[in-house]
Amino acid sequence: MAVMSDFTCPVCHLPLSSEDPDSNGYVVCPVCGAVMEVVVSNGHVIPVVHAIEGKRVQPRFRTHSLLTHLSIGTMPIAIIGALFAPVLEFFSFSLWQQLDKLALYMLIITLVAGALTFATGVIDWKQRYRGRPYKQIAIKIKLSGFLLVVCISALFFHGLHSVDTAISFKYLGYLAHLFAMMGLYTLLGNIGGKLIFGK
Ligand SMILES: [Zn+2]
Repeated sequence: MAVMSDFTCPVCHLPLSSEDPDSNGYVVCPVCGAVMEVVVSNGHVIPVVHAIEGKRVQPRFRTHSLLTHLSIGTMPIAIIGALFAPVLEFFSFSLWQQLDKLALYMLIITLVAGALTFATGVIDWKQRYRGRPYKQIAIKIKLSGFLLVVCISALFFHGLHSVDTAISFKYLGYLAHLFAMMGLYTLLGNIGGKLIFGK
C-alpha cells in the first residue's frame, strides 16, 4: 500500500512519515521498537537509531486484530448474497428474498463488529502505541470513520427490511456501497497488517 512515507525504519523497513515524531522529537517504530531521531541532511531524511524500546507488547493476540476478522468474514458473504439476489429474482426463484435478507444480516453484523473493531483499535493505539502521532494510524482512524458512514448509508439505501425488488437502481446503489466497503476493508487491513507483521 502506498501510504505516504518519507523514510523507512532502518531496522524493519516499515514505511514511516516525518509527521510521526513524538513531542520529544523521536520516532519509535511501532513494529520493531527502534527509537530514532530524524535528521534532515542535504534535503534527505535520515533516521538515526539510538536505541530499541525494551518494553514491547506482543501485538498478534490482541482484541483488535482478532475482531477485525469477524467483519472480514461477514463482508464477502454480504456481497455474494447481495449480488446473487437479483440474479435469482430475474430467474423467478423465490429464494432471492432469503438471500437478500442473509446479506442484510451479514451487513448488520459487519457494522456492529466494525464499530467494536474501531473502538478496540483506538484503545490499542492509546495503550500499545501510547497515542503516538503515527501517520498510518491517523489514516486508519479516518478510513474507519468513513467505513462506518458508508456502512450506515448502505443500510439506509437498502432499508432495515427486505426490499420489494432487487432489480432496481436503488439496489445498485446498495451494491456499490458494499463494494466501496470491501475496498476500505482491504486498505485498512493492508495498513494494519504492516503494523503487526512489518513490511
Ligand atoms: Zn522498525
